[in-house]
Amino acid sequence: MARRWEPEREAAGTRPTTPEITTTMCEACGSQVSGLNGRYACGVCGWVDDWAQGQARLPTADEDPNAPSPP
Ligand SMILES: [Zn+2]
Repeated sequence: MARRWEPEREAAGTRPTTPEITTTMCEACGSQVSGLNGRYACGVCGWVDDWAQGQARLPTADEDPNAPSPP
């Protein structure tokens, strides 16, 4: 008997782990640019928005499990 696959549910109150796809107009050339959580890179002209303009907080170096340890 095959069991139905059930998606894992996130506990209420936890931060969503899936980035949200967002869209804006390129500030340099006006092309429509899609990004994740408000962070964009234009494939037409190479414009990127400032890191601080994203909608989600960026993790710090301390939260990076692959960060090199200081000497
Ligand atoms: Zn552009």
